[in-house]
Amino acid sequence: MSARPISEDDARARDAADELATLRERFHVPPFGAGEAAYFAGNSLGLQPKALRARLGQELDDWARVGVEGHLEAARPWVSYHELLREPTARLVGALPAEVVVMNSLTVNLHVLMISFYRPAAQRFKILIEDSAFPSDSYAVRSQVAFHGYDPDEAVVRLKPRPGEAALRSEDVVEQLERGGADIAMVLLGAVNYYSGEYLDIEAITAAGHAAGAQVGWDLAHAAGNVITRLHDWEVDWAAWCSYKYLNSGPGSLAGAFVHERHLADRSLPKLAGWWSTDPAIRFDMGPVVTPVDTADSWQLSNPPILAMAPVLVSLEIFDEVGMDALRAKSIRLTGYLEELLDDAADGRPFEVITPRDAQRRGAQLSVRLSGHDAGKVSAALRRDHGVYADSRRPDVIRLAPAPLYCTFHDCWRAARALAEVLDA
Ligand SMILES: *Cc1c(COP(=O)(O)O)cnc(C)c1O
Repeated sequence: MSARPISEDDARARDAADELATLRERFHVPPFGAGEAAYFAGNSLGLQPKALRARLGQELDDWARVGVEGHLEAARPWVSYHELLREPTARLVGALPAEVVVMNSLTVNLHVLMISFYRPAAQRFKILIEDSAFPSDSYAVRSQVAFHGYDPDEAVVRLKPRPGEAALRSEDVVEQLERGGADIAMVLLGAVNYYSGEYLDIEAITAAGHAAGAQVGWDLAHAAGNVITRLHDWEVDWAAWCSYKYLNSGPGSLAGAFVHERHLADRSLPKLAGWWSTDPAIRFDMGPVVTPVDTADSWQLSNPPILAMAPVLVSLEIFDEVGMDALRAKSIRLTGYLEELLDDAADGRPFEVITPRDAQRRGAQLSVRLSGHDAGKVSAALRRDHGVYADSRRPDVIRLAPAPLYCTFHDCWRAARALAEVLDA
């Protein structure tokens, strides 16, 4: 153990000096004993904004009051509801308003966008993903490959970290594309890897993918609302993300999609269509053929679920109010503090942080690898005995996400101390 452990008073002093500290009061933090939990699971499911209940109530009231006329007469008319999300979503991920839309769920958006951007040909049919891709992404690309008549085991190239390393390095992805990119049709990577927490260099990898002749898509499930992205400027072809992790929009909530401006008017792209793909000016003429619009909306299929969209809007309002720059600045301080505390606690204990040490190459997550302890049992004890919500990935990794909207420096202190006590017990 460290000669000079960081004190609880130090953590409290940092919270007292934190300008964003009061944001925590906007969220329902799960109770623990007479107080509150230290919630580090926001990378799985973010906390509920307190403002949501009234906002959902408004939609229920409008529906009760005027039924179908709510499409036009609701306080926020349902027929154009998704337009309310467009600009804040664009600000959130660094896009033009026309490039984004909120629709479906994440894996569905991956598929809907791959219909357009995975265009395999005999000499170029492979998809490059990371070996530690989230399973849904891996299943999605394998099924797309099979759908086009190729063999997933041959067509899906899985990039592994260097031997002995837990995270993929951006320069290795770039190198792979430079060396072996000739048969890669599409790249799909998690911008922030769900397991290691590494934030890949989106701009450099996208450029390398393009130089190799591939389309480049990004899964921002662990990046949206966590790190700053400039999807438009970085020339990303397409991206998708869910809204229930750092975006706090509730279990299984709607997902975002991004398509770069340069593709928006491309009528040669294959697309699946539905009545929400067509030009809204003539949607209700009920004609048999889609009239295309040159925005990301043309990838929409169905009329949006308003009760699922209300939480996304409430969440985006919070992000707009705080701004990603301020949030990311706090996030870097908070994650760095947790890292320091964990390193302290790791002195003489069987665990290590496997997330990249460079704050620019990670978001608000530290993954901890245990040796000789079962991660599931440790995370259960953290919650049961200490009110510290973490999550475990079998067999030996615990993930802690100090989400800057509601996690405190004192929470970090609690987490590190609790981990030490659980491992010592
Ligand atoms: C959370 C997550 C998913 C979940 O997919 P859903 O379609 O929302 O169930 C998919 N991919 C990644 C990378 C994730 O982190």
